[in-house]
Amino acid sequence: MSTLLSDFSKLCVHTLTTKPWDIETCVKNYSKAGIHGITIWRNVLENKNLAEIKTLLDDHGMTVVSLARSGFFPSVEKEKREAVITYNLFAIEQAAAIGAPSVVLVCGADGRQSLEKSREQIAEGIHRILPAAKSAGVKLSIEPLHPMYAGDRSAINTLKQANDMAEMINSEWVGVAVDVYHLWWDDTLQSEIKRCAANKNLFAFHVCDWNIPTTDFLNDRGLMGDGCINVPEIRGWVEDAGFSGYNEVEIFSDKYWATDQHEYLEKIKRAYLTKT
Ligand code: ZN
Repeated sequence: MSTLLSDFSKLCVHTLTTKPWDIETCVKNYSKAGIHGITIWRNVLENKNLAEIKTLLDDHGMTVVSLARSGFFPSVEKEKREAVITYNLFAIEQAAAIGAPSVVLVCGADGRQSLEKSREQIAEGIHRILPAAKSAGVKLSIEPLHPMYAGDRSAINTLKQANDMAEMINSEWVGVAVDVYHLWWDDTLQSEIKRCAANKNLFAFHVCDWNIPTTDFLNDRGLMGDGCINVPEIRGWVEDAGFSGYNEVEIFSDKYWATDQHEYLEKIKRAYLTKT
C-alpha cells in the first residue's frame, strides 16, 4: 500500500465511537493503531485529573481536535438557562485543560416553546459564554442536527441556520461543525459549505453513514460505506472549499459497540481509506 493510500494524518476518532473504552484505553489504542487525532467526549473525563489526561495525550502524540459536547441552551425555565451557562463555562475550562482548541455545541431545543424562541436563547447563551471562550482560546462550533432532533436536541437543523447564527454572532471564536449524518439530505449543503468556508466559519467535519433502515435514531449510525451517504462527495466539497482539518469519525452504534473494539478500529481505518 502506498504512503498516500495509508495516510491517517487527518483521521480523528471520537471517543464515543469506541464507547466501551475509557479515555486511557482510547488514547493508547488509537495511538497504537496510528490514529493521532482524537475528539474527547466529556463522559470519559468524569472524575479524571485533567492535567494527567493532558500528559497522557502528549505522551502518545495525540492531537485533541475538539471536546464534545456542550450547549443545550434553550429552556422555558430561566433557572435551567442559567444553570446551563455554568455547564458550558466548565466545558470551556475542560477544553483548555486538555488542549482542545474547540468545543462542539449541540445547541438544544425545548419543545414547550417555538423553534424561533429556542434559537433566540441559543444566541443569548453563546453570547454569554463567548468572553470565556475567547479568553481561554477555545472556539465554539455550532453543530446543526438532523431535523428529527428539533423537538428536544437542537433547534438548529440545517447548515444554513448554523451559518446564519455564526454570522449574526460574528466572532472568530464561533463557527460551525458539518456532520454528514445530520446534513447529507440537504440540497443546499454544497453551497452552505462554501458559504461557511468563505467566512472562515468551517471548524469541523464529522463522518459516519446513514443506515437503511435506521433502527434507532440515536445509536444506529453506520460506518462510512454502510449506508446511503456519499461521504467522499461531501468530503470533496469540504476540502474544495478550503477545509484542511481532521475527518472526525463519530459513530454511535449499539451494533459496533457490541463488537471487538480493536477489530472495529481496523474497520474504521479501512472505511476511512476506501469509503470516506
Ligand atoms: Zn457530529
